[in-house]
Amino acid sequence: MDLSLLNSEQAKAVLHKEGPLLVLAAAGTGKTRVITYRIARLIEEGVPPGKILAVTFTNKAAEEMRQRIESLAPGRASAVWVHTFHGFCAKLLRQHYEAAKVSRYFTIYDQSDQKRLISDAMKECGFEREAAKASMYASIISRAKDDLLDAGSYAIYASTSIDPSRKIAAQIYSVYQKKIESAGGVDFGDLLLKVCSLLKEHPSIREYYQDYFLHVLVDEYQDTNHAQYIITKTLAAKHKNLCVVGDDDQSVYSWRGADIRNILEFERDFKETGVVTLEQNYRSTKPILEAAGRIINNNGRRKSKTLWTQRQGGAAVRVQELIDEREEASWVVQKIEEGKKSGHPLSSFAIFYRTNAQSRSFEEALRRAGVPYRLIGAMRFYQRQEIKDALAYARILLNPRDEISLLRVVNVPPRGIGKTSLERLKAFANARGLNASESFRDADKIDNLTPSCRKSLAELNHFFDKLRADLPNLSAWQAMARILDESRYLSWLEEESETDIEAASRLANVQELLSSVKEYEERRQARGSPLSLGEYLEEISLQTDRETTDTAADSITLMTIHLAKGLEYPIVFLTGLEEGLFPIGSGNSSKEELEEERRLCYVGMTRAKEMLYLTHTSARRVFGQTYSNIPSRFVMEAQLSGELSTERTRDYTATSAPVVPAQRLGTNLRIGARVRHPLFGVGEVLEKSGSGETAKALVRFENGRSTKLVLRYTPLEII
Ligand code: ATP
Ligand code: MG
Repeated sequence: MDLSLLNSEQAKAVLHKEGPLLVLAAAGTGKTRVITYRIARLIEEGVPPGKILAVTFTNKAAEEMRQRIESLAPGRASAVWVHTFHGFCAKLLRQHYEAAKVSRYFTIYDQSDQKRLISDAMKECGFEREAAKASMYASIISRAKDDLLDAGSYAIYASTSIDPSRKIAAQIYSVYQKKIESAGGVDFGDLLLKVCSLLKEHPSIREYYQDYFLHVLVDEYQDTNHAQYIITKTLAAKHKNLCVVGDDDQSVYSWRGADIRNILEFERDFKETGVVTLEQNYRSTKPILEAAGRIINNNGRRKSKTLWTQRQGGAAVRVQELIDEREEASWVVQKIEEGKKSGHPLSSFAIFYRTNAQSRSFEEALRRAGVPYRLIGAMRFYQRQEIKDALAYARILLNPRDEISLLRVVNVPPRGIGKTSLERLKAFANARGLNASESFRDADKIDNLTPSCRKSLAELNHFFDKLRADLPNLSAWQAMARILDESRYLSWLEEESETDIEAASRLANVQELLSSVKEYEERRQARGSPLSLGEYLEEISLQTDRETTDTAADSITLMTIHLAKGLEYPIVFLTGLEEGLFPIGSGNSSKEELEEERRLCYVGMTRAKEMLYLTHTSARRVFGQTYSNIPSRFVMEAQLSGELSTERTRDYTATSAPVVPAQRLGTNLRIGARVRHPLFGVGEVLEKSGSGETAKALVRFENGRSTKLVLRYTPLEII
């Protein structure tokens, strides 16, 4: 390995021998590079690759890390354990399913399955009227699990709380947990919680892994939650070779239970920790770093860091105000087309936004312009109805107790098993303390079922039994193909699609699912092992950041800022920088929430290598309502006044929806008038242009910032 590719501090971290190591450093300073080089180095020194565990935050990051290690230590990297926390835990639970008290082929429930089960639990507890709060309870329960509170512990905690919703949550939690366990499922929080208990309650298993992993490395450590922290700490307890890298300024998952204290207190928890700080940024130009630095400087509680770059020059960060989201999208697409003409491949562009809903206008504009794009996250492929149906069949095959999946597909395609029959089935099950899937087998003992319903149930049972018996000899793809065929799901969709366009697109998606199974299988075969249906299901249940389309073609990337963590692109558009959208919230957010938004902004900006554009609109439609906006405080904090550019790139046609009226100052605003802006403060009108709908004024504010404002949308007040 060529150490000259590292600076001296990086080399120090890579060559650090034994004992805990903390690398705390700002964006783009090579933290991930240190992890990959360190792993390659360990392998070079004779550490068996299979005894190294590296944990990253997203599947995309894990895949990238695997490739980087592979290229540094060719042919020797495949045995390294590179996982996300959830992936690693799923693997451990499969291995030790008995000790962990989970069913052998447990199903991993995603958020929507979880919500469904929580709604059921709420009904059972008599909280139907709270139905709208299912998401809230789902997140309370997930938070509790991240903090390692199982249903019992949470009930104790809730009993001492003065907040009545805690007591309700405790009841729901307990019923929900019974349900998910009886269905042989686990949710994301369970993966972590159950591994923690596994390691805690089984000294032999704990000691085995403590012995086994000679080195544990964690990237993006700032985003670990309590459960993840305990797992890491436990695994590294014996050899103490724990290397964590992170940046407290990039902690953006506190809503998912991430605990910034883990990084701030690492040195206290691990005695004699080697600490390395990296200060040179290799990613971005100076103007980008400076703008990002000015923003993050507004945060209170942070470890101070120096960050510099050797790079000279670099284009100024550009702020662009647009009229609405449609114009924002066309402006961005136009910039991309210009960039492409001057020689940048499409893969060098990325568009980031705060919320998934913002992707729509960009997608439309990109499609119109014929620019290929990859959308990461968002309306996930695996969330689609037809894909969930197909996967539900597969889940039942592996886990016959999976009630949610069974009820999902029992009558899809239609088999004459109606609501009433299902109610009877459930009542039968309840009376015997079984779950619906278990009673499914005894359908002939249930009263009042129609003969045709009985026949259908028997056929369905037969279908599952037969496939289940054949399963050990089938690859994932073969199994999936037979499921879709023999359940008649595919032929049903085919029939439907003759008359129904929606069904046609569902059919196409199911076919895409089949090709993607094939693709997984081939990728796995390249690594030398076959892929079973169970393994396939596990892989995709953990794919929370999968791309909607896996196009090899040159394309731009769209994603939320959360998913952009750790990645880099030459040209970045950070969009929707408006108060209320980014920072998100109604204006009464707490200081902590605001600081997290600011860190998110910092993460987004520091992804850019060459060029960074910040855009904001004066009006934006949100759920069909149009709101007038003021620019995000982050734009102001970036202090880009000297470089502000607000030129229009095309004529604007008025939005069709009514605009929540801002102060209509229009023509009676004079040059030289003093005005007040709710965010920018007091300023003076320097110029006026346009008229009517498009009247604008150039205002210089007392903080030095000058900006052109579209009066129709700007809440200016004359003073
Ligand atoms: P983030 O905080 O965003 O996760 P990071 O600290 O993990 O960033 P890396 O992604 O490892 O940073 O590195 C940023 C970029 O700088 C990468 O393109 C990497 O290849 C490059 N880089 C890092 N160190 C060096 C070096 N010593 N010489 C040349 N390039 C480097
Ligand atoms: Mg990184």
